[in-house]
Amino acid sequence: MLAYIGLGSNLNQPKQQIKTAVLALHNAKDIEVVNLSSLYQSKPIDGSKQPDYINAVCQVNTHLTALELLYACQDIENKQHRVREKKWGARTIDLDIILYGVQVVASKQLIIPHPQMMNRAFVLVPLSELEDDLKVPVLGPLQDLIDKLDTSELIKL
Ligand code: AMP
Repeated sequence: MLAYIGLGSNLNQPKQQIKTAVLALHNAKDIEVVNLSSLYQSKPIDGSKQPDYINAVCQVNTHLTALELLYACQDIENKQHRVREKKWGARTIDLDIILYGVQVVASKQLIIPHPQMMNRAFVLVPLSELEDDLKVPVLGPLQDLIDKLDTSELIKL
């Protein structure tokens, strides 16, 4: 199954955090990272006073179920000492499953497509680098979603 994972960090050398997490994904059992977007710099979504974020999206090929993939992502977050202080607070690393093939998931633990992806330029723009003519299940063409967003504050590094 081809899946997309969004990565974000704004603490403890964010660029390195992203690279470490991508390597950890690639080294995880039954996950192969097949593509990685550029790194992007974005402003905190709540406008609060915290460092800018570094974001990227990677494409993985996996034999894991969507839920197993979530657990693998959470394992990596824990290993990189993610501190969960508050919902939108600063974080060393955040891994979100953006898409899992064309599968739609709506369970207590997991929602796919990621429920906030359509609001986040730092997810959609790197995703479009990897597959610009993507049709997102339920939400429609990726380019239409991007056209609805303000991408002016997103910086490609
Ligand atoms: P966050 O604080 O943004 O990392 O959210 C983590 C929580 O979101 C976890 O408890 C997950 O069970 C839940 N969640 C729901 N859908 C997703 C998804 N597509 N990717 C990652 N976490 C998800």
